[in-house]
Amino acid sequence: MPKVHVRTYGCQMNERDSEQVVRMFVEGGYTVTADEREADAILINTCSVRDQAEQKALGKMGMLGAKQRWRPHVVYGFMGCMAQSRGEELFAKLPHLDVVVGTQKYHRVFEYVDTILRQRLESRMDNPALALKGTTVCDVAEEEGSQNTIRDHLPKVRQATAFVSIMQGCNMRCTFCIVPDTRGRERSRPISEVVDEVRQLAAGGVKEVTLLGQIVNLYGRTEFPRVGGKSPFVQLLEAVHEVEGIERMRFTSPHPIGYREDLVRAFGELPKLCSHIHFPMQSGSDRILQAMRRPYKTAKFIEICEQMRAVRPDLAITTDIIVGFPGETEEDFQASMAVVERLQFDNAFVFRYSKRRETPAAEMDGQLGEPVKEERNQRLLEVVNRLAIAKNQAVVGTVQRVLCEGPSKTNAARLTGRTSQNRIVVFDGEPERLAGRLVDVAITETTGFTLYGTVL
Ligand code: SF4
Repeated sequence: MPKVHVRTYGCQMNERDSEQVVRMFVEGGYTVTADEREADAILINTCSVRDQAEQKALGKMGMLGAKQRWRPHVVYGFMGCMAQSRGEELFAKLPHLDVVVGTQKYHRVFEYVDTILRQRLESRMDNPALALKGTTVCDVAEEEGSQNTIRDHLPKVRQATAFVSIMQGCNMRCTFCIVPDTRGRERSRPISEVVDEVRQLAAGGVKEVTLLGQIVNLYGRTEFPRVGGKSPFVQLLEAVHEVEGIERMRFTSPHPIGYREDLVRAFGELPKLCSHIHFPMQSGSDRILQAMRRPYKTAKFIEICEQMRAVRPDLAITTDIIVGFPGETEEDFQASMAVVERLQFDNAFVFRYSKRRETPAAEMDGQLGEPVKEERNQRLLEVVNRLAIAKNQAVVGTVQRVLCEGPSKTNAARLTGRTSQNRIVVFDGEPERLAGRLVDVAITETTGFTLYGTVL
C-alpha cells in the first residue's frame, strides 16, 4: 500500500481541505503517514496570508527535495493558496516538484498524484532510468461547484468536534488581503448538503461543529433567498441546530457587513450556539478602516458587539487587529486601543501589517518601519493580555460545562476541552470514559490563558 504524507499550513479552512484530500487517498488504497521519510506522496497545503507562511512552505519543500535522490519515485505536491497564486513559477523554484493544485481543485489532487506515482512505479519496474522525473501537473483553474467537494471526513475514535466548510471565497477585497485572489468569489454549499454532512458527523458521535467560511455571515447571499426575514446563514444555523446529537455549534469568520438583527437574535434563540464569537475588527480607526476598504464604521462594530452581549450576556468576543497599517498614526492606533478597552475582548490576535504582493495596501504611501510596528504590537498585546488574563481569572472558582476533546496536546496524561466561551480547560480523567462528552468541571486555577480543574 502506498503511503501519503500531508502537511498543512495556515487556517482551519486549510485543515478542513487537507482532511478531504487525505480521505480521498485513504479511499484510493493509501495509508496515511506522519513520517515524510516513508511517504510515496508528499503534499503541502499552503497559506498566503503572510509572506512568512509562503517562505515556510517553500523552505520545507526545498528540504524535502534534498532527500529526493534516495527515493526518486516520491511524488511532491503543493496545494492551497500559495499554489493558487504562484502556479507554474513554483516548478522553476523547486525542480523536484510534480504537482501544483489550486484552491478549487482539491478534489483532483488524488487523481493527479496517483497517476504520476503509478506511472513511475510501473516504469521503474521496466526501466529504472524512466522512474525519474517527467510528468508535472499544474491546475489552478476555477471549477464550478468545487465548494461542494469539501464534504467528507476521516472517521476518528471518540471525535468530539468537527469543522464543516459551508462556503469558499470572498467578494470583499480588503486592501491588505490576498484571499479573494487565492480563494476566488464567494460560492456556498446548499443548506441540505451541509445538514446531511452534520447528520453524518452526529451519527459518528460528534457533539460540536464549527461552520467554516472566509465570510460566513454572508453565506449564500448571491445564491439563496432570505426567508421569513432571515438570511441564508441564519436559516443554515437553525437547520444545523435541529440536528439530533449535535449539542454545540460555532462559526468562523463573520464580517460586520451583513451582520444583521436576525443573526444577533440567533444568539438569543439558539441555545446550542456557543457563547463565543471570533469577530475580526482589524482597526478601531474609521480612517484606517476606510484605507483597508472595510466599509463599516467602528461605531457599527461596537454596536453589533453590544447588541450580541445584550442577548447573550456570557458571550466571549475575540478579534483580529492589524497594527502598523500604511499611514496609521499614533492617533489611529490609540483609537484601536480605545475600542479594545471599551469592548473588553476576551482575547485578540494582533498582527503587524505585512505587505502581500499584488494587494493595493502594498503600494500605499506611508509604509511604517518594523520598529514602529513592533512597538505598537507590544503595547496592544499588553492590553489584550491583561484583559484576557483577568477574564480567565474571573472563571476560577466556577463550574464550567466543558466538551472533552481527549488527551491534551501538551500533556497526554491529562485531558483537555473547551467551555462554550472557547476557553481551554485541562483536567484529569480517563479518555475512554470522558472523550466526546460534555462534563462539568470545577475550575481551580489558571495560568492566564489556560484553565485547570476537576471533573465533578
Ligand atoms: S473579508 Fe476577510 S477574507 Fe475577505 S478580503 Fe477581507 S480580510 Fe480577506
